[in-house]
Amino acid sequence: MMADPRFDPGFEKDGVFILPDRWKIDYQCASGELSKFYKELKENARLMGTKCPSCGITYFWPRSWCHRCYEDCEWVEMSGKGVVPMFTRVEISLNDLQTEVPYIQGGVLLDGAAYPAISFIRGEFSEMENGMRVRAEFLPAEERTGRIRDFFFVPDK
Ligand SMILES: [Zn+2]
Repeated sequence: MMADPRFDPGFEKDGVFILPDRWKIDYQCASGELSKFYKELKENARLMGTKCPSCGITYFWPRSWCHRCYEDCEWVEMSGKGVVPMFTRVEISLNDLQTEVPYIQGGVLLDGAAYPAISFIRGEFSEMENGMRVRAEFLPAEERTGRIRDFFFVPDK
């Protein structure tokens, strides 16, 4: 954890006096029509996507309505398996939610989904390959909080 910048001295830069500061805001985020995704993740360790009943596209991350034809989507359970079309190794912690670095983050295209979803991937970076198969794993029930940190992908060999 970085030292609190509110105790750092102010300084001048380009003729402007700069005061290091920090915002820390606690708030609650209502998930609305996508509540089922978070509830199933937390309570049942299931990855839910949505499918358009009109054009058949499947979204993961789920969307409540189809961005192609504007129909309301229906919930579908995803298999949790897919491929990794892109990935990177993250070397710095950008927030206090993911403090262990480095970590691997990548797009995971779940089987049947139309788009990859940026997700955490655990494994050896040197063994990662574009197009490799992965499967979802979940934190134990007592550690799940209904957030996307509750699951991650591992190589599916
Ligand atoms: Zn549609």
